[in-house]
Amino acid sequence: MSSWQPRKRERVKAKTNGRCAYCGVVLGDKFHVDHIRSIDDHRQSGDGLWDREHNMNASCQDCNLYKSNLSIEAFREKIETAHFRLLKNAGYRAMLRYGAAPPDGPVVFYFETLCHE
Ligand SMILES: [Zn+2]
Repeated sequence: MSSWQPRKRERVKAKTNGRCAYCGVVLGDKFHVDHIRSIDDHRQSGDGLWDREHNMNASCQDCNLYKSNLSIEAFREKIETAHFRLLKNAGYRAMLRYGAAPPDGPVVFYFETLCHE
């Protein structure tokens, strides 16, 4: 690994104040770097610009794996509709009876709450 990669990762992490760009959890030394617009999408359109910093978000492992290669809007829809898919699961239905709350309102990602000048 070249020496610029750790600095690049830290700059990406700093864009969201050391937090996951999606759920907002504080990131430790180990974190994922998500490609906002996926590498697959870039390849399909024929450009090779996926490794630009503006296309990267620091992410916790859970959010990055759950987002996979989805766009931001497709990821938002996946989260907003997860409750309905989970209702097919008896354990999830039981958790709701024990007080777990289903999502309330539209999904707003942490990075969307940050002011950028
Ligand atoms: Zn996260």
